[in-house]
Amino acid sequence: MKNKNRPTTQLEVKTLLNRIQHFVGFVYQSIRLRGTGGSLRVEVKIESHGGMRGKCADCLKPCPGYDRLEERRWLFVPLWGIVCHFFYLPRRVECPEHGVGVEHIPWSQGKRPVTLAMMSFLAQWGRRLSWRETARVFHTSWESVYRSVEWLVEWGLRHRVLAGIKAIGVDEIFWGRGRKSEAFLTVIYQIDGHCRRLLWVGRKRTQATLNRGLDALGSEVVSGLKYVCSDMWKPYLNVLARRAGQALHILDRFHITMHLNQAVDQVRRAESTRLKGKPLAERLKKMRWKLLRKGSQVRGRAKLKLEGLLASKMATGRAWDLKEAFQHFWKYRCPFWAGGFLDYWTQRAMRSRLEPMKKVARMLRTHDALILNWFKARGEVSTGATEGLNNKIRVVTRRAYGFRTYKAMEMALYHNLGKLPEPECSHRFC
Ligand SMILES: [Zn+2]
Repeated sequence: MKNKNRPTTQLEVKTLLNRIQHFVGFVYQSIRLRGTGGSLRVEVKIESHGGMRGKCADCLKPCPGYDRLEERRWLFVPLWGIVCHFFYLPRRVECPEHGVGVEHIPWSQGKRPVTLAMMSFLAQWGRRLSWRETARVFHTSWESVYRSVEWLVEWGLRHRVLAGIKAIGVDEIFWGRGRKSEAFLTVIYQIDGHCRRLLWVGRKRTQATLNRGLDALGSEVVSGLKYVCSDMWKPYLNVLARRAGQALHILDRFHITMHLNQAVDQVRRAESTRLKGKPLAERLKKMRWKLLRKGSQVRGRAKLKLEGLLASKMATGRAWDLKEAFQHFWKYRCPFWAGGFLDYWTQRAMRSRLEPMKKVARMLRTHDALILNWFKARGEVSTGATEGLNNKIRVVTRRAYGFRTYKAMEMALYHNLGKLPEPECSHRFC
């Protein structure tokens, strides 16, 4: 008796391929399973459709054939963990406008031995795993993963939309590779409420670097900016004043807090050295992280220790007290009263006899106008954005991508933080 439940069509790999990746003008000729065990592989032979002419790679117009080249091989997305390759003999066509050249091959990108689908597959996994792991899991090379990410990023950078950017944040990131100035990166973020992303990254933190970055964004974007956020780093201040003078320049709250924290730490270290050998010095050493936190976030035993330090009238305690007092500044609504507080605080700091704190006070005085802009821009820019994006950058640079070059790291940053558009793909492989 016949089996009545037999499926309507027998599933063939060819059917599957045609469903997910159908290329007009080409047919899947044969699909073979070769090798055994670990060397098992699927070979897909593709042929051009008999009645259709090849297209010119430049203008995509069908052109008369010229000749055929040798067979080429492309890596495709693995099927159930089995390595899969496309094979095809490319034609050369004779375009009346562009001359003789290799035809347009819809799954291929230049001379790359990996199909577009596989590049996009690898690049997407390269965001979740390290590139080394991605290469290992999918039986390919680190180089292959890197090239795939590069292709996707370059496509994304060419197709992204930069219109409508109102606020940017500029910052320096310590990368740690290379000599002094080489160890820093300059980053430009978009920090609008509706969109936060990495717009540009470049080596070093000089005026030339930032100029290059602004050039890359284009004069239209730069002249349309309304808010610019940065640290008090002189080269940046100069460039931003010159090129984005129309924008309200804001000194970031998180940068100011960072400078205050660094000053407290300098006082602590100096005092610790002064008291060397005494039990107090040991105590100071252990206080480091407590001192860097906001007072309201320190609780329990740590809080008691901090209070003890304050009562002791030690320099570190006084520095910490000054830092904490500054927190009040951010509670103001009106720039006028905030300005009054800033005067009061800097005077107090200048009388503190703590050189690092005095240095911060002088810095704040010099830039008070830019600091007070913070109150004017409140609610317009997402002020925590720069700090958040900086942290994400650190995650990317630390994740074991095995960056061999600066360029590779740059690609990884755009890939993870650039919110870049991706080419439309009929089928999502992952
Ligand atoms: Zn052409």
